Amino acid sequence: MNISLRGFIKVSSAMTSGAMLSRFGWDSWPAKTSEEELRIKYAQESTTICPYCAVGCGQIVSVKEGKVINIEGDPDHPINQGSQCSKGSALYQLANNDRRITKVMYRAPYSDQWEEKSWDWALDEIAKRIKMARDATFTAKNAKGEVLNRTDGLASLGSAAMDNEECWLYQKFLRSLGLVYIEHQARVCHSSTVAALGESFGRGAMTNHWIDIRNSDCILIMGSNPAETFPISFKWVTKAIERGATLISVDPRFTRTSSKAHIYAPLRSGTDIAFLGGMIKYILDNNLYHKDYVVEYTNASFLINEKFGFEDGLFSGYDKPKRKYDKATWQYQVDEKGFPKRDKTLQDPQCVFQLLKKHFSRYDLDKVSAITGTPKQKLLKVYKAYSATGQPGKAGTVMYAMGWTQHTVGTQNIRAMSIVQLLLGNIGIAGGGVNAMRGESNVQGSTDHALLFHILPGYLKNPRASDVTLKAYNEKYTPKASDPKSANWWGNYAKYSVSLLKALYDDHAQPANEFGYQYLPKLDDGEDCSWISLFEAMYAGKFKGFFAWGQNPACSGPNAEMTREALGKLDWMVNVNLWETETGAFWKRPGVNPEKIKTEVFLLPCAASMEKEGSITNSGRWMQWRYKAVDSPGQAKPDGEIIHELYLRVKKLYETKGGAFPEPITKLKWDYAKNGKVDIHAVAKEINGYDLKTGKLLLSFAKLMDDGSTSSGNWIYCASYTEDGNMAARRDTKDTSGIGLYSKWAWCWPLNRRIIYNRASVDKTGQPLDKEHPVIRWDATSNEGKGAWVGDIPDGGWPPMVNEAETRYPFIMRSEGFARIFGPDLADGPFPEHYEPLECPVKNMMSSVLFNPTSKRWDLVGSDMDKFAQVGDPRYPFVGTTYRLSEHWQTGAMTRQMPWLVEMQPNMFVEMSKELAKELGIKNGEWCVVESARGKVRAVAMVTSRYKPFNIGGNIIHEVGLPWCFGFMGLATGDSANTLVPNIGDGNTMIQESKAFLVDVRKEV
Ligand code: SF4
Repeated sequence: MNISLRGFIKVSSAMTSGAMLSRFGWDSWPAKTSEEELRIKYAQESTTICPYCAVGCGQIVSVKEGKVINIEGDPDHPINQGSQCSKGSALYQLANNDRRITKVMYRAPYSDQWEEKSWDWALDEIAKRIKMARDATFTAKNAKGEVLNRTDGLASLGSAAMDNEECWLYQKFLRSLGLVYIEHQARVCHSSTVAALGESFGRGAMTNHWIDIRNSDCILIMGSNPAETFPISFKWVTKAIERGATLISVDPRFTRTSSKAHIYAPLRSGTDIAFLGGMIKYILDNNLYHKDYVVEYTNASFLINEKFGFEDGLFSGYDKPKRKYDKATWQYQVDEKGFPKRDKTLQDPQCVFQLLKKHFSRYDLDKVSAITGTPKQKLLKVYKAYSATGQPGKAGTVMYAMGWTQHTVGTQNIRAMSIVQLLLGNIGIAGGGVNAMRGESNVQGSTDHALLFHILPGYLKNPRASDVTLKAYNEKYTPKASDPKSANWWGNYAKYSVSLLKALYDDHAQPANEFGYQYLPKLDDGEDCSWISLFEAMYAGKFKGFFAWGQNPACSGPNAEMTREALGKLDWMVNVNLWETETGAFWKRPGVNPEKIKTEVFLLPCAASMEKEGSITNSGRWMQWRYKAVDSPGQAKPDGEIIHELYLRVKKLYETKGGAFPEPITKLKWDYAKNGKVDIHAVAKEINGYDLKTGKLLLSFAKLMDDGSTSSGNWIYCASYTEDGNMAARRDTKDTSGIGLYSKWAWCWPLNRRIIYNRASVDKTGQPLDKEHPVIRWDATSNEGKGAWVGDIPDGGWPPMVNEAETRYPFIMRSEGFARIFGPDLADGPFPEHYEPLECPVKNMMSSVLFNPTSKRWDLVGSDMDKFAQVGDPRYPFVGTTYRLSEHWQTGAMTRQMPWLVEMQPNMFVEMSKELAKELGIKNGEWCVVESARGKVRAVAMVTSRYKPFNIGGNIIHEVGLPWCFGFMGLATGDSANTLVPNIGDGNTMIQESKAFLVDVRKEV
């Protein structure tokens, strides 16, 4: 009898108390049945994916008489196996919640109330305003006469909450209007991840996937607390521990993750590079690196320019007035053929390996301990345990999140760990990798679809003004590789860019008009339109209109009060959401007079996850399909429908009335209507791409062409929807790999490859380094004796390295074919270096350079609201940091509307040590004021032993933590921790520094 796990449960009548455990927390066993089977007996069921974090848990939605009556974990889903965390378990309250917005609402300028409106009225009015703002601010050329074709009067933020298909439609719509200020959640959460992983390995995403964590021998959790913030991921940590793995937790606070760890090490926020730098030194000093891997798969043997140097905190080439590096001396030495020069003995003083050794020789235990506050014996314990994974057959992995990314050195924090993993041979193997944990259900997909200013879908570059022709654009961004053994996959750039243009403009994209290239809005050279720049520009009154689509920047960005002030400088704002959030309601926030705020607000109600169909992509790059279970309440509509109806109205206005450069709008391919609605499958197919000669869906991006004969909205999603059907909807629960790949469950980019860089998991003959957990293996006997890879989809199908004539190096997305220990393309250095956070309690003990010399500073050109504390500022003596809670998600915009969750976490609090509380005369539960140079928040004191004072070079430093999930709307209200956070950015991606800033704490009087 062929029966699924759920089928088995439904025919079984066994009841167990284990059900409650699995419904209200993670556990390591598949969910059991319960008496609820009776309640759902005659209900219609459909599957969906949880809309909160990017673990991507499966759920079953039961509907009776058009109403959701139950949502529970999907027992067949390989990641969660029926389990859900508190948020997933409370999802029923999202489907049945009378606090949802169900009508279109409008707030007139200077009004103190909402008015109900019809969709037609609102969309007509918004379309008119878009056209007016666009026509008034459209810039055809810059002062140099280069084409820009953009509008500066409109900006957009959103959204990682939309489905992939909606993200594609949304960015298509925005770019047709000429917007360049396009940003979303990814900037403020994992932008530094993309820069660091891209530089190190070639792609900016989580290397492995959730289930694979079970294959690890040692798990380092640093810069995150998954037991609370990614609860179901911890199921796989537990599985690894059951297999004998060691768990290490490094965190300023003793978290629930720490409570399960074999080793806990405290560190002061913002000192991760010092901690990891010490680990790099330990690995090198004790010869614990994986020599063959390091020589064959990394650039450790490459020789660097003789003039490269590092002195007192600065690499060679620093231009102080510009706060930038000239990277000329950071380049590889090349031979007469243009090949990088190498020394495979790793002895040449100019080789990367020796430069690495020299750079990190300064990170000795005494120095690292003094900077981080981590006791020396703890450092040694962690270094020893983790370095043990450098042996073939052993695997170490890292799980991290905002604790690493949200710093002025965010990119280099992740680079430091990438170097550790490369030295230990932990990339490409099962149980290894650098696992960036994404916090929103589709933040991976929305990033892939380029809801960001600097990229186009599939990580193509957004064109700049100096990229005057398509030819020049393609040439500039197509890397050159001299070594024929380098696959140099980005050498195919033009095939992807031209196929994208065909998906955008269809028959209007022809060779004669550069495939519509000039329809795309261009950035000026060097221009930065990232999140903080966007709000700085808004605060300066630059924009007329703004879309806050499925986002809540009034709480989620740094310097939250400045963001709220900035929203008041707009003429109008469109806010699309399930709820009335702090962003939509900014004009009636406590302490302001609505009569003084002019901004018109259109609040549009959208559908929740179970009320529409489409795909989302989880942290492990799994693209999973969700089905519609019920209609949305009241007038709420799917985001895709709203975008569709708005686009058609704007198009009609330009067709009938003309206006500034209408072609990008009127010639846009937009043929998704089916029975008056968007056919989401047609959108998914457009993203996949077609052979335009045959009209067939493409099977692989290897088939894309640069001559206009193919289309693909996003080349990395090519193969997701083929003539064989919708791959994201697959539900085959069999795992034939033995290592938990589940290759026929859903689909995974690229090309359904579950572990990327997997050709580095084998030796030169193609045999697995870890025989027990093989990811791929070369079978010389198959394919009629020509040989073939078996296992996961290989990262490039070329034969193993012993086949000198036909092989290609395994890191195919890097032009040299090798993973980068030395990263020459980053803004702040080819190696990580410790700098203090912008706001820090002590001087930098490594050099005289206090904080990242390339960090992005808006205070130098910015608003009167960009204020900072000085080093050791007596007004703000404590280190502040922010974190998430299990029960609330991001700003709490959704979860603070659910009674079950609110009951568990009702209040804004500040967590502090017993020692600090005693010093300040504060008792547990008393109201406090926490103040930074930007503002202050009220919070209840939570006095715990989870924080301990740090001894930093002989100084006692206290750290306090605040959850960032509160705001003034919803069932549970409280001040927003982001009020305290400064507008300061990492030099590579401009991500803000939320995880280390200075505050004062005092008892409220
Ligand atoms: S919030 Fe994350 S861990 Fe919790 S059920 Fe949803 S996807 Fe799973």
